[in-house]
Amino acid sequence: MIRVGIGYDSHRFAPDRPLRLGGVLIPHTQGLVGHSDADAISHALTDAVLGAAALGDIGQHFPDTDPAFSGADSVALLIEAHRRVRRAGWTVMQADVTVVLESPKLAPHINAIRATLAHAVGVPTGDLSIKAKTNEGMGWIGRGEGIAVIAVATLRALRVDDESTDSGQPTTRRA
Ligand code: MG
Repeated sequence: MIRVGIGYDSHRFAPDRPLRLGGVLIPHTQGLVGHSDADAISHALTDAVLGAAALGDIGQHFPDTDPAFSGADSVALLIEAHRRVRRAGWTVMQADVTVVLESPKLAPHINAIRATLAHAVGVPTGDLSIKAKTNEGMGWIGRGEGIAVIAVATLRALRVDDESTDSGQPTTRRA
């Protein structure tokens, strides 16, 4: 059985913040504002993975009102979300992400982001796609006020012969 999930996230730029996207620290004049590390790529992918399993969204699992998640490493949240998805009997097959921002250029960092996120959800790098594009100067993204990310993830049901990992064990078989 196959499931598909979609995730969206946006964050606002501000000066004197580190810019972390897909777990990778990117040199830039400004970073993103958020309760966690504001890693919009990781957040959108987390919502896609949770959504495919119909397990709610990132805000329900890791509330931004909880001081425990202040400055949180969003890749760690993605790993924990995937663990919960596996516990529910699913695992990630592949994901595709589109990042919309005017600057900086993500091209030099795409491979590092792919490797980080692929490892987080336990797939080969070739099954984790990241694409970046501008908004052609239009609107709030075009003015450089922030970024938006859209992610799609495909899950498959865990099989009893799937290797068990720290990511969690299937509790049910959905063949
Ligand atoms: Mg977010």
